[in-house]
Amino acid sequence: MTIDQFNFAGKKAFVRVDFNVPLDENFNITDDTRIRAALPTLKKILNGGGSVIIGSHLGRPKGVTNKYSLKHILGHVSELLGVDVQFANDCMSEEAAMKAAALQPGEALLLENLRFYAEEEGKPRGLADDATDDEKAVAKKAVKESQKDFTKKLASYADCYVNDAFGTAHRAHASTALIAAYFDKDHKMFGYLMEKEVKAVDKVMNDIQRPFTAIMGGSKVSSKIEIIENLLSKVDNLIVTGGMTYTFTKAMGGKIGNSICEEDKLELALELMKKAKEKGVNLVLATDAKIADSFSNDANTRFCKVNEIPDGWEGLDIGPESEKAFAEVIKNSKTILWNGPTGVFEFENFTHGSRSVGEAIVEATKNGAFSLVGGGDSVACVNKFGLASGVSYVSTGGGALLEAIEGKVLPGIAAINA
Ligand code: AMP
Repeated sequence: MTIDQFNFAGKKAFVRVDFNVPLDENFNITDDTRIRAALPTLKKILNGGGSVIIGSHLGRPKGVTNKYSLKHILGHVSELLGVDVQFANDCMSEEAAMKAAALQPGEALLLENLRFYAEEEGKPRGLADDATDDEKAVAKKAVKESQKDFTKKLASYADCYVNDAFGTAHRAHASTALIAAYFDKDHKMFGYLMEKEVKAVDKVMNDIQRPFTAIMGGSKVSSKIEIIENLLSKVDNLIVTGGMTYTFTKAMGGKIGNSICEEDKLELALELMKKAKEKGVNLVLATDAKIADSFSNDANTRFCKVNEIPDGWEGLDIGPESEKAFAEVIKNSKTILWNGPTGVFEFENFTHGSRSVGEAIVEATKNGAFSLVGGGDSVACVNKFGLASGVSYVSTGGGALLEAIEGKVLPGIAAINA
């Protein structure tokens, strides 16, 4: 079922959203992007004559914690939605069930933080540090058992289930995946945000226009290895950049000075290069670097060959020659995936490479390429450089997007498609 096909008139929808927004010490929302992102879905249901029971997590509480109460955001959600949203202090209480049952078309109810219950994540809490494996196993079994009742109760509030929380789609939690089992195929669907994310991921994983170029940046090979391996069987060009550059350069016998390097991943770097060759993938690495004499924005800097970095200096961004080479590859691409900066973009003096990659992506997009930017820092990058509107899609789901491009099946997506 899709959200556009479903007739919400007189129906109650349980909508799992990601309202995990940052709050300051006075509980003011400092960035409401995630709430705004769910509005089209919520409004569609309300305008269609349905009512919504909104479920979300906020932070990582280990139990009931005022700091993580969703009541802090209730006013703002009401304001954005243009509806006086009701609140249930405890998502499992009689009050919650009664309020859900009494909802009239066009009305909305926000449930308290689902993660106040261990059953949401299905992980035992309060285990002693010295708990034995047996004790851990018993506790895990108990929470998995009570998770069934928790999930069933959430499902009982509504006639249909809408998942619009891509940010948690890689978690098999009660409200993100397990709950879907209580609804048949005609009564569960993605929300608009989730639909867009799923489509964008599909375009770079399955429906690929070639040449396909992935730009993987960031600090460590170890955190990107599964993605790189999965991409090697999909892409035509793989630009590996950021701090990872120097592990590759060192593995090839280059001098990298004090640049960041994972000594235990040198073999792996060589193996990846070999695999790329076998698969006919053009693995592109930087040839020059912007080096600094300390890890600081105010460091002295100069450009040099990436494999001739003097002792006492470290590479904190790519140099102009690499920028040109990367841009050339990017501009000739029809599908582009960008995850991770080319350098320490948090320092103004080392943003140039990331900006030039972003600009090349925007130009390729103008010429008809599909571009997906996602995963934490690259989103911060395109926002910082004001380039977000020039790319095809900016993903909202950091960890979920990375797992999807690793080739993993996301439980939140699988549960709707089941
Ligand atoms: P990740 O979280 O793995 O995507 O990595 C992003 C981080 O990598 C950013 O905080 C960057 O500052 C960092 N980074 C990128 N290039 C370098 C570099 N050459 N040296 C040190 N850190 C880097």
